Formats: sequence, structure tokens, C-alpha cells
Amino acid sequence: MSQQRTELGKIGEFGLIDRLSKSVQIKNESTQKGIGDDAAVMQYGNRSTVVSTDLLVENIHFDLIYTPLKHLGYKAVAVNVSDIYAMNARPTQITVSLAISNRFSVEAIEELYKGIHAACEHYGVDLVGGDTTSSLRGLVISITAIGVADADKIVYRSGARAGDILCVTGDLGAAYLGLQVLEREKQVYLETPDMQPKLEEDDYIVGRLLKPEARKDIFEFFKKAEIVPTSMLDVSDGLSSDLIHLCRQSNVGALVEEAQVPIYEKTFQKALDFKFDPIICALHGGEDYELLFTISPRDIDKIRFQTEIKIIGEITPIKDGIQLHTKGGRMIPLVAQGWKHFQRDGDDD
Ligand code: ADP
Ligand code: MG
Repeated sequence: MSQQRTELGKIGEFGLIDRLSKSVQIKNESTQKGIGDDAAVMQYGNRSTVVSTDLLVENIHFDLIYTPLKHLGYKAVAVNVSDIYAMNARPTQITVSLAISNRFSVEAIEELYKGIHAACEHYGVDLVGGDTTSSLRGLVISITAIGVADADKIVYRSGARAGDILCVTGDLGAAYLGLQVLEREKQVYLETPDMQPKLEEDDYIVGRLLKPEARKDIFEFFKKAEIVPTSMLDVSDGLSSDLIHLCRQSNVGALVEEAQVPIYEKTFQKALDFKFDPIICALHGGEDYELLFTISPRDIDKIRFQTEIKIIGEITPIKDGIQLHTKGGRMIPLVAQGWKHFQRDGDDD
């Protein structure tokens, strides 16, 4: 074994995945896409199966002080299913693995499962297995989601071409502000436990964090409208860093119109209350679980009047970089602030 020791923080999550995936060799013809997209793709004849997995760790990904277990169960399924929709595939099965400390009662885990079942019902997926073990501390939930699609309908992050239209669903930045509200109320609660949290006026943004939905409706719309996006991924890290993933894998640049980035009114107002710039929350917030995708300009009329789909810009040649055209008319390069603190020293993108 080499004596060298590299700190994880030095290369970051994406650096680590890159480094580990270098030594992976694909041996099976059915493996169409391995590491690097929202889900892996296995092709059998003209049908494909897609698989995605996620791990949620207590106090890293969720805080049970303000996360009801039922919501947590629902969210754990929704965020996985979101990766399946991001491939333009239909989710069909999930497996659920748990590591549980003795702090949790049977009833608490049943509550978690109520949320898991509700999500399975909503997304039409079957819970087909998993694993259960103990943990020394806290709760760990790992969910794997499986989906299916016709092989020629699978959409990768890598298919965007210059001239394509860049779109995003729903609205952005709300989950991040929901988190800020909950963290603020948590501090108040820890200091004065008798105070009741004031959350009613923030139910939209708090709901966006605690009970996100995967965009099943958009997947169904694509099918009905006979649209196959040229590229797609779900917005989990933040519009900015997810757009950078899409552009890197597609070898293209992008131009985003700040004025077109969808921010819900309550999100905008709450950002100002916190003295944040609303566009920064929308670009870098993360956990929105909206779909970011590109379509050929041929298909533009099919989406023009869809209220849940917003055209936010276009794909440009790689030499033009990834730029934000601000409301004030300036062009500024988009950077991946969402995970900047994990990045290499001096790496500036
Ligand atoms: P997403 O945000 O869509 O869930 P991630 O950023 O978590 O995607 O992962 C990016 C890619 O890296 C995916 O293809 C994922 O399967 C893969 N990946 C992540 N962690 C590992 C790991 N420890 N070993 C192998 N592949 C991994
Ligand atoms: Mg994803």
C-alpha cells in the first residue's frame, strides 16, 4: 500500500468519483452507460433498464429535529425516482436499505415506511427488497430505484448541441430557503424550547425541502407530446453546477437569461428577508429536484405554452463558455458555487 495520504476535501466528491471510476472496466455488453449520469443504463435488445442509488445519512442529509419521519421516507423515494425521470425512463421498482440505531422505535421506522409507501403509490413503483442492519449512531437510508424505457428514448447528460433550447421545470431556490427557515427556527427552539415555530407563512418553501416531488408529470408530458429531450438531468446540486455537468458531458457552452430563471414569488420575498440575492439562491441552492433539459429548436412550439416548463436560455459552442446574461445586461461566467468548498485549490470553474 502506498504511504501517500490525500485528504478527501482536497479532491472533493466529484474528484473522488472521477478517481475511483478510472479503474472501472466494463465487461458486459449490456452495460450501456456506467458511472457518470443520473442513472446507469443496461440495454437488452431494444429495451433499457436504468438504475440509480442514493444514500441519506442523518445529520448530513436530514435533521430529525425538523424532518417528520414520514416526509423523510417520501423524500428518500422521490429523490431516487427523480434520477430515473432524468433519464426519461419510467420508475418501476425500488429497494430500501436501512441502518438503524437503538434510538429508534419500531413505530418510528413504521412511520418512515408510511412515507415510503405513499411515494411508491404516487410514483407507481414496487418495493421489492432491501437490507436492514444496526448502526452505532443515527439513521442511514439507502434507496435504489430501477426504471425502464425503450432504448432509443433514454436521455443522457451528454446529448446537448449548440443551438438547442435550454429549459427547466417548476421553480428554483425554494428548498434552499426552506432549509434556512428551518435552521433558523431550530436555533430559536434550542435556545427557547417553549417557543412555537412560526412556519405557516413559509409552508411553500419548507414543503419544497421536506416533501419534494419528482417530475412524473413532465416525463408523462414528454411522452404525450412526443418530445425526446436532447439531454437532461435533475437539479440536485443547484442549477449552476448541474448545468456545468450537462455542458461538460455534452462538450458545449450555454447562455442563461437571468430574467427567465423561474423563482416563485414567496421564494423571492424570503430571499430578500434573509438579505440574499434571489438569483443566487436559484442558481446555487440545490435540492430542487426539477428537470434541467435541452430540446431541439424543432420542438420549441411543443413546450412554448407549458406553464411548468420555462425556457431559460440556449446551448452555445463550447468556446463561448457557460454564461449568465444578467438583468442588467452584463455577461458573467457561471460557476459551481454549490460545491466550490470541496474543489481543488485554484480550480476556478
Ligand atoms: P446524482 O446527483 O444524480 O445522484 P451523483 O453526483 O451522486 O449523481 O453521482 C454521479 C455519478 O457517480 C453517478 O453515475 C453515480 O452512480 C456515480 N457514483 C457516485 N458515487 C460512486 C461510488 N462510490 N462508486 C461508483 N460510482 C459512484
Ligand atoms: Mg441526478
